[in-house]
Amino acid sequence: MSPYPHLFQPLDLGFLTLANRVVMGSMHTRLETMDRPIERIARFYVERARGGAGLIITGGFSPNDEGLMEPGAPIFNSAEQMAEHRPVTDAVHAAGGRIALQILHAGRYARIPEAVGPSAIASPINSNAPRRMSEADILRTIEDYAATAVLAREAGYDGVEIMGSEGYLINEFTAPRTNDRTDAWGGSVENRLRLGTEIMRRVRARTGRDFLIIFRVSSIDLVEGGLTAEEIVAEARAVEAAGADIINQGIGWHEARVPTIAQKVPRAAWAFAARRLKEAVRIPVIASNRINTPEVAEAILARGDADLVSMARPMLADPEFANKAREGRADEINVCIACNQACLDLIFSKRVATCLVNPKAGREIEFDAPAPVDPKRIAVVGAGPAGLACAVTAAERGHAVTLYEAQGRIGGQLNLARNVPGKEEFDETLRYYGRRIERLGVALQLGRRPEADELATAGFDAVVVATGVIPRVPTIPGIGHAKCVSYVDILSGARQAGPVVAVIGAGGIGFDVAEFLTSAPQEVAAAPEHFRAEWGIDTAIAGRGGLGREAAAAPGRQVVMLQRKPGRMGRGLGVSTGWVLRLLLAKRKVAQVSGVTYGRIDDAGVHISVEGVERVVSADTVVVCAGQEPERSLYDALVARGVAAHVIGGAERAAELDAMRAIDQGTRLAYSF
Ligand code: NAP
Ligand code: SF4
Repeated sequence: MSPYPHLFQPLDLGFLTLANRVVMGSMHTRLETMDRPIERIARFYVERARGGAGLIITGGFSPNDEGLMEPGAPIFNSAEQMAEHRPVTDAVHAAGGRIALQILHAGRYARIPEAVGPSAIASPINSNAPRRMSEADILRTIEDYAATAVLAREAGYDGVEIMGSEGYLINEFTAPRTNDRTDAWGGSVENRLRLGTEIMRRVRARTGRDFLIIFRVSSIDLVEGGLTAEEIVAEARAVEAAGADIINQGIGWHEARVPTIAQKVPRAAWAFAARRLKEAVRIPVIASNRINTPEVAEAILARGDADLVSMARPMLADPEFANKAREGRADEINVCIACNQACLDLIFSKRVATCLVNPKAGREIEFDAPAPVDPKRIAVVGAGPAGLACAVTAAERGHAVTLYEAQGRIGGQLNLARNVPGKEEFDETLRYYGRRIERLGVALQLGRRPEADELATAGFDAVVVATGVIPRVPTIPGIGHAKCVSYVDILSGARQAGPVVAVIGAGGIGFDVAEFLTSAPQEVAAAPEHFRAEWGIDTAIAGRGGLGREAAAAPGRQVVMLQRKPGRMGRGLGVSTGWVLRLLLAKRKVAQVSGVTYGRIDDAGVHISVEGVERVVSADTVVVCAGQEPERSLYDALVARGVAAHVIGGAERAAELDAMRAIDQGTRLAYSF
C-alpha cells in the first residue's frame, strides 16, 4: 500500500479519471513567451507528466488583448495559435498525463495601456489605471473566455482552469475594493459574482459536459475591501451551480501585504481556507500554497480539508515528486524550499523561470547530453551547495566521485542559513543531497581537508575546488573588540548577542541576522498560529479580506543595521520576498542607518558619521556581516603545482554568491566531464 493512500487515490469525475490527487498548479514561467522552441515547453510539461502528476495546469493564457499581463504575454484567442499547443498536449498525453489550460485575464494588473477593470481604480502595484468596462466589454469578455475554452478543447487540453482569484479581473469584479459599479455587475454580492458565474456558465455551455472546468476561487483576499467569509461561500456555491467540476483555492491578491507563498509562510498555512470552500460545496476542492512534501499533502487530504493538492513550485524542484512519493522514495524528493529566487524573482526580472535546487527546470533540453562513455575519477573538495551539486550530478552521469568536506557534515553555508526562521527548509536540501550521495555511491570523506600534493598524486582525472568563502573582516579600528562577532558565530549559535546589537553590513546576510536576532525561536515562528497572529490573518474572515489585528511585536532585542551605501536598505533582496523581510523588520522596529562612515568600535559601541554628523550607535554586540572573500588557497596551490583544477561557487567569486549560482555552476560543470 502507498505510504500516502489519500494522495494516490484516483479521482473519477465521470468523464475523466485523474490518476491521483497531485495537481501541478499553474505558474508563470515565461517559457511560452521567451526563447521558446515548442520542444522546450513540451519537454517541461512531459517531464512532470512522466513524473506522475495527476493533472498539470499550464501558465495563464489571456482570452483577449486587454487581458494580457504585459506586452507579448501568452494569449490563446485564435485557431492559428493551435500549433503552439498541440505538440504540448500530444506529448503530455503520450506520457500518460492530463493537462488543462489556465485562462487568465489580468484585469487591472495588466501592464498595458489597454488594461480594463470593473472600475477605473488603479492597483497599488500597477500605476496604469484601468479603463472601466462597458456592458458590451463585459459581454464580449465572457464570450472571449468561452471561445478560448473551445480552442483549448480543440487543441487537445483535457480542460481549463478559469482564474478567478489573486486579484485578477474576475476577483476584481467580486470585491468592493475594486468594483464601485451600480449596474448589474456591481453593488450586491449577486451582482459582483455575476461575471465569474456567467463566464463559468458560458464556458460550460460551449465546451460540453465532458470537459474539465476548474474555477479558482479566492479563499481569502488578504486586502481591505475584499470578500467576507459568507461572500466567499456564496461564490463557491455559485460557480458550482454554474457547472464547475472542481474548485481550486486562490490565496491573497498580488497587492496584499501579507506573504502567501514565501518561506515565512509555514507549510499548509492556508488549509483552513481550503476547508471553508470544501464545506461549502459538493464538488472536489484543491488546496494550494506552501504544500511541498507528500506528508503535508497527505495530511491535508486525510483531515478532509480538501480533495486534491496543488503543487506548482514543488514540480519545478522535482518533476518526479509524485512517482517518488508513490514508490515510497519520499526521502529522495528534491523539495521546494519556497525561496522564490529562481522562479518568481527571475520572472520579475523578465527571465525564464527555473529552480534554485533544480537548475534543469525549464531548461531540460540543455541537459540532454548522453552520459560519457569513459567515466572519470573526480575529486570534489567542499560539500557546500556548489560542491554537492557537482558531486552528485557527476556521479549520476557515471563518474566515480570522491567528495571531501572539512567539516563533520555536508552543507557548508547552508548549515548557517538553515538557522534563520523560515530557512529551515534548507534541511530538505541537505537531506536530499545526503540521500543522493548514499544512493549514487559518492565516496564522502568528512572532516578531511586534502592538500594539493595529495590531490595531484591520487590519480584523479579532474579536481573541482568548491571550498567556499571566508567572512570579510573590515578594517575598522576596534574590529577586534570583544563585542565584535561574525555572523557565523551568531547563526551557528557559537555566540549569543546581547540585548542591544549593531549589525555592520546590510546585504542578504545582514538582513538574515537582523531577522534571526528579533524573531521568535524557529519552532515558534514555524507554527501557523504564530504566522497568522504576526500578519493579522483572521481565519474566520469576519471582516472584508480576512484581515484582523496584527499581534504587537514582542519587545525583544534592539537592533540597528548599518551600511555605507546611501539610500534605502535591502535593494538587493529578492523582488518577491525582500518586501516581506523589510516589512517584518519595520514591525520589529529594527533601525536602519545608511550612508555611514565607520569611525571606530569601542566599549561605547560603533562610532559613525552620517553626512558629516558624528554619533555613537550603542551596542552590547556588533555583528559583522560585511560580505565574504573567496577561499581559494587550495586552488592556488593546485595551479602552482600544474594541476588544471576547476574552481566553482564562492571560491571562484564570492560577490553576489548565492545557492542558486552555486548549484547551477556545480551542475553544469558536472555535465562538462
Ligand atoms: P553582500 O550582499 O555583498 O553584503 C555585504 C554587506 O557588507 C553590504 O551591506 C556592504 O554594504 C557591507 N560591506 C562590504 N564590505 C564592507 C566593508 N569593508 N566594511 C563594512 N561593510 C562592508 O554579502 P552578504 O550579505 O554576506 O550576502 C552574501 C550573498 O548571499 C549575497 O550575494 C546574497 O545575495 C546572498 N544572500 C541572499 C539572501 C536573500 O535574501 N535571498 C540572504 C542571505 C544571503 P556597504 O558596502 O554599503 O557598507
Ligand atoms: Fe521552490 Fe526556490 Fe525552486 Fe522556486 S526556486 S521552485 S521557490 S526551490
